[in-house]
Amino acid sequence: MAKKLKSVIKELRKFGLTGVCPREWRSSIVLEGEVDSWQEYIAAGYAAAGKGYKGVVNDLRVPGLEPLKEYLPPGRGGALAGKSYDVVIIGGGVIGCAVARELTRWDLRVALLEKEDDVAKQTSSRNNGMIHPGLAAPTGSKKHSYNIRGNRMYTQVSQELGFEFHRCGSVVMLEKSFYRLALPYVRRKALKKGVDGLEILSRQEVSRREPNATDRQRGGIFLPSTGVVAPYMVTVAYAENAVENGAEVHLNTAVLGFEMEGDRIVGVRTNQGVLRARVVINAAGVWADNIAGYANDRFFSIHGRKGTIAIVDKALGSTQSAVLAMPQLGVNTHTKGGGLNPTVEGNLLLGPTAIEVPQREDWSTTAGEMELLLSRHLSLNRRLRPRDIITYFAGVRACTFEEDFIIEPSEYVANLVHAAGIQSPGLASAPAIAEDVAAMTVEILKKTREVKRNPAFNPVRRLTPQLAKLSLAERAEVIRKNPAYGKIVCRCEVISEGEIVAAIHSPVPAATVDAVKRRVRAGMGRCQGGFCTPALLEIVARETSRSPGDVTKGRPGSRMLAEETKAGGKTG
Ligand SMILES: Cc1cc2nc3c(=O)[nH]c(=O)nc-3n(C[C@H](O)[C@H](O)[C@H](O)COP(=O)(O)OP(=O)(O)OC[C@H]3O[C@@H](n4cnc5c(N)ncnc54)[C@H](O)[C@@H]3O)c2cc1C
Repeated sequence: MAKKLKSVIKELRKFGLTGVCPREWRSSIVLEGEVDSWQEYIAAGYAAAGKGYKGVVNDLRVPGLEPLKEYLPPGRGGALAGKSYDVVIIGGGVIGCAVARELTRWDLRVALLEKEDDVAKQTSSRNNGMIHPGLAAPTGSKKHSYNIRGNRMYTQVSQELGFEFHRCGSVVMLEKSFYRLALPYVRRKALKKGVDGLEILSRQEVSRREPNATDRQRGGIFLPSTGVVAPYMVTVAYAENAVENGAEVHLNTAVLGFEMEGDRIVGVRTNQGVLRARVVINAAGVWADNIAGYANDRFFSIHGRKGTIAIVDKALGSTQSAVLAMPQLGVNTHTKGGGLNPTVEGNLLLGPTAIEVPQREDWSTTAGEMELLLSRHLSLNRRLRPRDIITYFAGVRACTFEEDFIIEPSEYVANLVHAAGIQSPGLASAPAIAEDVAAMTVEILKKTREVKRNPAFNPVRRLTPQLAKLSLAERAEVIRKNPAYGKIVCRCEVISEGEIVAAIHSPVPAATVDAVKRRVRAGMGRCQGGFCTPALLEIVARETSRSPGDVTKGRPGSRMLAEETKAGGKTG
């Protein structure tokens, strides 16, 4: 028996997981059998990780656990049937959209398929928006190298794509004075890892930098390369620039399987028909192992790790300029621990938490998680009170048991590239991951045909006016040209009808109320849409030639109006 298999068995026994049968498959380890709980399922996966296998495939059964629920959009006939592309990308998160944009640098037919009704609906809109400095990721991991590269690329990418990026820096505070003894080591480690510009701070220096930082702090470090973005805006910006450069984005389009011939994918089966692709890219987030499985290449498993985040009112946004964190040593080895970070819109975010969940699209928030957030992070900034929280949301990280990104051409399928297991810092790493995945794809294509540059590629995204960012004189000029910019629909965020209409007719059209919200922030302010939603609904209906009753909040079927209450009465 192979030494590594023996060490897996030994580790499983150590945890008393006797119902687990490990077996080798290709260069991975597969776990089969039964365990008593989800905690045991997770423990077994980690027991098998790090033993020299390429991946852990966890097929353990947990009796009584609800089967995995995956949202699939309704079938919509054969709109894509018979269409043929050079590259099909599965998944419209930040990774898929960034890859699509990279690929349009080449003269290729590129299609991105997303099962949700918009891009950035899953993890890419449900995160902290931090562009991490790269200190936390283990040295030598893919997470580490992509984080460092991606972080440095954000300055240029944000200028080209016209999304906001603030390099606000982060202050990591120490809770105990004796932790300072470790700081020279941390500085050497940071230098070796390529983390730019670390400074060691005394207690007074932390207070000078962040006057509202907790009194519990005993000094810390400042990492100037940390930044923040609006993650959904980054994803939308990548998708729009990809479309401007010739890519197609197909929403409400779920990949359901592949047609294989030998070691090649020849057909991509979707709810809109079977289409052809020379190369397929798996960027399906929490479902990337399913996609790999469709091509008999499931050499890893994804397990969901939920993170809950609280949003602090903008009124308190100016009480802190950098990200604040105070790591609790030995609490959870698989996360960076969370904290309190500014956003580009001026709010603060509290969190995230980290909890293993069986359901990968479980975005519910619980009272327990909220209390944990408040008790762990709220006091990092002395000005904050629980009443300053305006809402909560949650996202699910796509974790592998090896806890690293999988970014590689498949070993067994000639025309499949994986961009899987992209948990945090996936957003920070996205620009670099996209460069490499596009290069891998072009290499595969070059084996059978010439691949030329796209001479018309324009890296600069076309932008429409954003009133809140304009001076009064500039606003007057925009309103003179188009009076719709003079009608404010969302008062909290100062969003005009003109901006909403532009979003509805943008390269990746916002056809639902939430899609508009993600593009222009209408409804994201203090009143959380209480005031502007009816007006927004009417504008979406008018601009998409539907009745208000047919406009949805998001996914097909999520209509916002049930019925007319008065015959002949006005909806809204
Ligand atoms: C709470 C939390 C906080 C985080 N904070 C940060 C942070 O501050 N900084 C950072 O760098 N990273 C952070 N991350 C991680 C970051 O959000 C992810 O790494 C990143 O969003 C992953 O992007 P993705 O494109 O791989 O996945 P996703 O955004 O999930 O995109 C995958 C897409 O594939 C689609 N899809 C799946 N199956 C199919 C199918 N069969 N057919 C068609 N489409 C399909 C899904 O609908 C989805 O839209 C955080 C994550 C969480 C959960």
